[in-house]
Amino acid sequence: MDLRSYIRDVPDFPRKGILFKDITPLIGDPAAFAESVRQLAARVGKPDAVVAIESRGFIFGAPLAQLWNVPFVPARKFGKLPGKTVRQVYSLEYGEDTLELHADALKRGWEVVVVDDLLATGGTAAATIGLVEQLGARVSAALFPVELVGLGGRAKLAPARVEALMAFEVRE
Ligand code: AMP
Repeated sequence: MDLRSYIRDVPDFPRKGILFKDITPLIGDPAAFAESVRQLAARVGKPDAVVAIESRGFIFGAPLAQLWNVPFVPARKFGKLPGKTVRQVYSLEYGEDTLELHADALKRGWEVVVVDDLLATGGTAAATIGLVEQLGARVSAALFPVELVGLGGRAKLAPARVEALMAFEVRE
């Protein structure tokens, strides 16, 4: 199955000059969605937990956590989690944003995988790795269905292991 054919290019979204990689055709096809989750799961061993990034990371992180039978831990935008949290501020193209994890969500020494839908510059996933490390856990791998190559995402996440199912050149 050619999973790449289920990723739709949307030019100039959400702003002029951005080529948006839309995953809705992929998750809208049950066989393609299931295959993408199977392939992601096959890239790494069973972790102690899945840490998924709001919001499209939840789409892939939840079935992975169920498949492995391990806790699903949401990394959420500032102010959404009701309990005590740890925070990580990260830079966006314009300004900054904050991600949080519940402070009791991971145990020290756990090996977790971080999941998002797409790796671009790596800022979002790097902040999530920082949150995991604040709680004394370790990231065994960061998993993405889609990687945009040429934006330095992999380098930004080093030395964390990065696994992506589909790589696209930014200019593609
Ligand atoms: P980054 O922090 O630069 O790696 O950006 C990753 C986050 O932004 C992910 O949560 C993606 O969903 C989103 N994102 C960034 N660039 C794109 C793009 N070209 N198409 C779709 N989503 C994107």
